[in-house]
Amino acid sequence: HAKQAGRNRFCLYDPALHEGIQRRQMLENYLYNALERRQFEIHYQPQVSLRDGRIVGLEALLRWRHPEHGLINPAEFIPLLEETGLIEPVGVWVLQQVGRDYRQCLGALGETDFPVAVNVSARQLAPSLIGQVAAVLKDNALEPHCLKLELTESAAMDDPARTLSLFDSLQELGVGVCIDDFGTGYSSLAYLARLPIAALKIDRSFIGNMMTHTEDREVVSAIVALAHNLGIQVIAEGVETPSQWRALREMGCDVAQGYLCSRPVPLAQLADIDRTVWEV
Ligand code: C2E
Ligand code: MG
Ligand code: MG
Ligand code: MG
Repeated sequence: HAKQAGRNRFCLYDPALHEGIQRRQMLENYLYNALERRQFEIHYQPQVSLRDGRIVGLEALLRWRHPEHGLINPAEFIPLLEETGLIEPVGVWVLQQVGRDYRQCLGALGETDFPVAVNVSARQLAPSLIGQVAAVLKDNALEPHCLKLELTESAAMDDPARTLSLFDSLQELGVGVCIDDFGTGYSSLAYLARLPIAALKIDRSFIGNMMTHTEDREVVSAIVALAHNLGIQVIAEGVETPSQWRALREMGCDVAQGYLCSRPVPLAQLADIDRTVWEV
């Protein structure tokens, strides 16, 4: 029976696993209609200069609001979008929605017109991406510097030749690309140096541990030095405490993003962000 089966690893029915699979299946079924039912929204999280405390950019983060199941976490639905291929149409929607938001409100928010960074998955790294980005700029009469793309280090290493040629085309278009979750993948530094990169985003696991683990602090400081030697800006992800903020500023890190400054919020709430906590 069950105990025996567990020990022999021939478990035919594991209720927790079964529930997980059922939820996955259920979400996947709903996901096919989510776009046309307008269940996606975009929240924005500010990126703040460690030098003067100004907002210098925003990251657009996708949210799925299901009428019965509530707000569903990207960690749960982005992998499903990628596996089903739905990430392609949804990715186009994200770009277009950010373009519309920018034209309607975002441009007016900043002291300068800061860029909005949009995350893209490895599956979106096709030559068609260039046309999609160009169309969003044209349709909304935006300058290319208004948009940036974020690609994780591991996605960038998936097919280095393809990544290089796409980055070159995006640079020609004037749209910068940032390497996301940096420090968790296995980049070849020689290859990295050849890519036209707008910024490295230090993975938040390093920031979370940097005040308690010397090794993590050393990694952060090495990434800052590496990026600056290559002439690349550095953004720290997941900055949650004033002590992390101060340590990063002392290291010469350029930009901070995290709950200390603000959680990701809907467009309408961006203007209300309380800046007093991180004004330097
Ligand atoms: P990411 O691009 O690395 O985004 C940063 C994540 O860290 C976001 O999670 C953000 O809410 C969270 N975060 C920001 N500050 C803090 C902090 O101080 N502490 C902690 N603990 N977390 C913080 P989110 O929004 O759940 O997104 C998760 C991932 O989903 C993103 O990671 C990105 O890889 C992916 N994603 C989100 N939107 C899109 C999208 O439109 N397209 C694609 N392809 N992927 C997306
Ligand atoms: Mg990102
Ligand atoms: Mg990240
Ligand atoms: Mg991430």
